[in-house]
Amino acid sequence: MVKLEKETIVAQIGNKKCEKTGAVNMPIYLSTAYRHEDLGRSTGFDYTRTGNPTRDALQEALAVLEGGYQAFATSSGMSAIQLVFEKFQTGDHIISIQDVYGGSFRFFRQIEAKYQISFSYWDGRALSDLALLVRPESKAIFIETPSNPLMRELDLAELARFAKQHHLLLIVDNTFYTPVFQQPLALGADIVLHSATKYLGGHNDVLAGAVIVKDPTLAAFYEETLNAIGCVLAPFDCWLLIRGLKTLYLRMKQHQENARAVAAFLAEHPLVQQVLYPGKGGMISFYIQDEKLVSPLLRALELFTFAESLGGVESLITYPATQTHADIPKDVRDAYGLTNQLVRLSVGIEAKQDLIADLSQGLAKVEAEVGAR
Ligand SMILES: *Cc1c(COP(=O)(O)O)cnc(C)c1O
Repeated sequence: MVKLEKETIVAQIGNKKCEKTGAVNMPIYLSTAYRHEDLGRSTGFDYTRTGNPTRDALQEALAVLEGGYQAFATSSGMSAIQLVFEKFQTGDHIISIQDVYGGSFRFFRQIEAKYQISFSYWDGRALSDLALLVRPESKAIFIETPSNPLMRELDLAELARFAKQHHLLLIVDNTFYTPVFQQPLALGADIVLHSATKYLGGHNDVLAGAVIVKDPTLAAFYEETLNAIGCVLAPFDCWLLIRGLKTLYLRMKQHQENARAVAAFLAEHPLVQQVLYPGKGGMISFYIQDEKLVSPLLRALELFTFAESLGGVESLITYPATQTHADIPKDVRDAYGLTNQLVRLSVGIEAKQDLIADLSQGLAKVEAEVGAR
């Protein structure tokens, strides 16, 4: 068959998987055990931690979307990160970026204390500064692009060349852009991971993670490790994620269109000091003129929900300083621009004029209430 477009592949996930019934929708195989005909004879399934047909359908699709050799569906984004780090051991050194997801930073601090895997943080700017962080025991570079929450884009192809030159693995958390806007493996990265809880799932209803790798040897290592540690995604959650993925391309298109309109509106607003939007995707951060305005704004908004997540169809507003990035000390945050004036929006797929109207009325209320100007 001809090579299909990604939009087609996602819409068709799970179809034609059940010869017997012809089910169009992927069946949820809840069975944890699978019957064997005889010694050495198996359907390919024996126990659900090791393999499950619903999870297989999801993993096949994830591998295709990211252009990888194999994908692994895990119980959360954090367990995806944990699985990735099973590759490293005491004494290893990892380089990450300063404005990395707060939960990743917390996990790094823990394994640093418990397992003496050490970390250095790069500001994401000059490659010459990155080179200064490389040590003989360095094993990998772990990044997010765009960075979170400052929305700075990194040059993945350049970083991949750098990583190769220094014999480091390049690990990319692709949660924000998804394979729709960025395919790190094609640009030279070794490992891509996701909090599938966000855009891949897309409906604020499933906690999930994914790891996708390019190299078969690395894939075999992660397959064995995932079976050993067991943080796999449950069958029902695999089904929810499949359901979400079917509309990934449609949703991302709308998220981006709306975010562009919202970013343009915010950039012109007098209470907004600076908008951080790289021009792609559905995530926007902005500095409000005064930290005192944050709480009134959160209360004034009617459509944007004050909640800690992103990537769902419903628009959310998050305050990184006390929510997603609370584990990063204030002086560290301030030093790189994650100040108490920074607010983050996950722009949903609602009508963009309604989203802009909500922000407009919210900011007007704040202005009246605080008499800020
Ligand atoms: C949410 C998030 C994670 C963690 O994923 P969970 O599914 O919440 O465990 C990791 N990276 C990024 C960029 C995230 O936004």
